[in-house]
Amino acid sequence: MGHPIIAEPPEGVSGKGFFVTSFTKAVGLARKNSLWPLPFATSCCGIEFMATMGAHYDLARFGSERLSFSPRQSDLLMVMGTIAKKMGPVLREVYIQMAEPKWVIAVGACASSGGIFDTYSVLQGIDRIIPVDVYVPGCPPRPEQIIDGIIKIQELVGNESLRRRNSKEYNDLMALYQIE
Ligand code: SF4
Repeated sequence: MGHPIIAEPPEGVSGKGFFVTSFTKAVGLARKNSLWPLPFATSCCGIEFMATMGAHYDLARFGSERLSFSPRQSDLLMVMGTIAKKMGPVLREVYIQMAEPKWVIAVGACASSGGIFDTYSVLQGIDRIIPVDVYVPGCPPRPEQIIDGIIKIQELVGNESLRRRNSKEYNDLMALYQIE
């Protein structure tokens, strides 16, 4: 029996006893398989996330079992649940406190668009206050869908250029959200 493949290697050139790839791809490989999520769970979608962390779905298979409730020690903000407008500034502060590079998943209809709560007190999507990288549909999404969102984020992270965070496009995006 051969050795199990733990993570697919990035594009590169291989020969007898060597493998060569770019620095960006090597960093991307490490980042995508060691994402540390900050679960910002405010209601029912958070329960689905608990199932996603459990033994059956086991998010540890993707290198993301280390949850962080400290923004500075996490790089993946997972927003799961209804975000009341009063909670908006708290969510934004948590996002700002996270160190770069960082990514965001809006899990479920409420985080993505306000969901069924089209009302004065509910934020109609977290992308009104912070940038979002991946949206997971559903009310609630099943754990498989949450894992699908993680895989989509992994694709983004693995292919992100090391220069992106210093690019004009990224600075413009931050300026749009009035984040320095
Ligand atoms: S999307 Fe549905 S399940 Fe998720 S927090 Fe909103 S109401 Fe609850």
